[in-house]
Amino acid sequence: MLLFSDVAKVFDEIEKLSGRLEMTDILAELFKKTDAKEIDKLVYIMQGIVAPPYSGIDLGIGERFAVDAVASASGYSVSQVDAEYRKSGDLGDTTEKLLEKRKQTALFTSNMNVRYVYDAVMKISKSSGQGSQEQKIKYLTELLNNATPLEGRYIIRFVLGSLRLGVGDPTILDAISVAHKGDKSLREELERAYNVCADMGLVARLFYEDPKNIEKFKVQPFKPLMPALAERLSTPEQIIEKIGKCGVEMKYDGLRLQCHKKDGKVEIYSRKLEKMTRMFPDVVEAIMKLKPNEIIFEGEALAYDKKNKRYFSFQQTMHRRRKHGINEASKEFPMNVFVFDLLYIDGKDLTNVPYKERRAVIKKLFKGKGILKPSESKLISKSEKLEEMFLKSTEKGLEGIMAKDLNAPYTAGKRKFAWIKLKKSYGKSVDTIDGVIVGYYRGHGSRTEFEFGGLLLAVQNSDTGRLETIAKIGSGFTEDEMMKLRETLDKIKTKNPPTILDYKLEADFWVEPKYVIEVAFDDITISSIHTCAAKDGKGYALRFPRMVALRDDKGIRDITTSEEVDEMHNLQHPR
Ligand code: ATP
Repeated sequence: MLLFSDVAKVFDEIEKLSGRLEMTDILAELFKKTDAKEIDKLVYIMQGIVAPPYSGIDLGIGERFAVDAVASASGYSVSQVDAEYRKSGDLGDTTEKLLEKRKQTALFTSNMNVRYVYDAVMKISKSSGQGSQEQKIKYLTELLNNATPLEGRYIIRFVLGSLRLGVGDPTILDAISVAHKGDKSLREELERAYNVCADMGLVARLFYEDPKNIEKFKVQPFKPLMPALAERLSTPEQIIEKIGKCGVEMKYDGLRLQCHKKDGKVEIYSRKLEKMTRMFPDVVEAIMKLKPNEIIFEGEALAYDKKNKRYFSFQQTMHRRRKHGINEASKEFPMNVFVFDLLYIDGKDLTNVPYKERRAVIKKLFKGKGILKPSESKLISKSEKLEEMFLKSTEKGLEGIMAKDLNAPYTAGKRKFAWIKLKKSYGKSVDTIDGVIVGYYRGHGSRTEFEFGGLLLAVQNSDTGRLETIAKIGSGFTEDEMMKLRETLDKIKTKNPPTILDYKLEADFWVEPKYVIEVAFDDITISSIHTCAAKDGKGYALRFPRMVALRDDKGIRDITTSEEVDEMHNLQHPR
């Protein structure tokens, strides 16, 4: 049985590192001591979750309640805990310090194992209803009573959802491979399994039970797949050169839905793989009527504006759904789902079947099925024809086109040239990136009253898992948005910068890296104050960045990577 105190020691060691190789080795050693009954729990803890996103189980304990529990376990008053917390800026550190003072550390040892800690946190997360907050505080206090100060630091950070070890999913997968084989050769297979079920705890457990389970791992209904992602190119010629004759589809600016059905039950997942079934009763009804008993497909949902005879954008669609209530909105602004991929049907995993075959089934299955329709698509082998289709899409008010490699499998969780996007602004100047807000600034002049002077934005280095700054954004917000942003960010202010952030530019206020925004810009330039893909002290920065929208459909895992920024820079400035 793996002791949680050993895990806490490893976390403490890892936190001080930034090199991925060392992290992998230290983790691999820990994984060697872990058995099949506890590996899933350890993996979830490291990911900072209790269960995959689609399970709907959130950690769900507020900071105030955690402070109460720390107070009871340490014997200090709530105001003493608060005062200490204000000083340190991290409730985990405060917990450690106060538990240290209370307990004769030298004498106190803990014997909690990983399963015990995980199960207790699960119990905390699951308790709901009347009196549940008191229950949560009680369980958490009990847990802290049994914990050493160092364990206390990580238990509190875990329940608050701010473990921030800086260990990304790729590092965990590498470490599992190294633990079992001494090298990273199993990583690809493990990653494929993870990409088709989005549940790393499950993959790790099945692998520990029997490595063969991973070889035969299959897509299954109600285990959403990580979405396949598109690469970008800037001209029709480049696309044809890259993939030759291809399937060119309209690119709809809606909401990506992954729809699952089995035995009369339907679930719909968002791009972040959260359950959205209840938001789309109209779509559920249409899926129920499909002939296959089991099916998984993906499509882009857009509401139709009957009055103006055009589609609403993603932002407008969501706004309508919230404002008018779901059932009303379904009638007033009927939803259309443009089906663009098919991943599974009646026991058959289609992810390795070439796109052209998947597409043929989509065309047969979704023709004339009301609100579910195949995305508009054409086989194209000449760049002039591709250009024509692109112009047609922009005339219709759509975003551009998606060109698809006819022979490619479904590349779950990966950005590959199986799909290539060509958007309205490509080739000229602007594109957008999605970054996470890591800090914000005080206002100057007329903005002082809102105390809001802009945002500090970061992207993620997919190799190291670290966040790297790319822009300070001062425009694109209305006054109303500024007020709301300040209010929202105030709630997640932290004293110290995120531990996983590499930065040179200081923010006036640091925040938990949580909110993702889409940002437009004119160009990507080289800068000595930003750390994105930095080499020799120089990174990338966005020129004239402006906020386009808050992307609540995306989480920190979905933001643009530093490598993509590098590619975008090379597209704009061909060498
Ligand atoms: P990404 O999803 O690549 O991280 P993003 O959310 O900013 O980036 P885009 O880069 O504009 O979106 O394009 C990819 C998205 O386009 C897909 O995630 C999907 O939601 C949407 N989409 C619209 N039409 C299609 C289509 N025909 N085929 C595939 N995806 C489509």
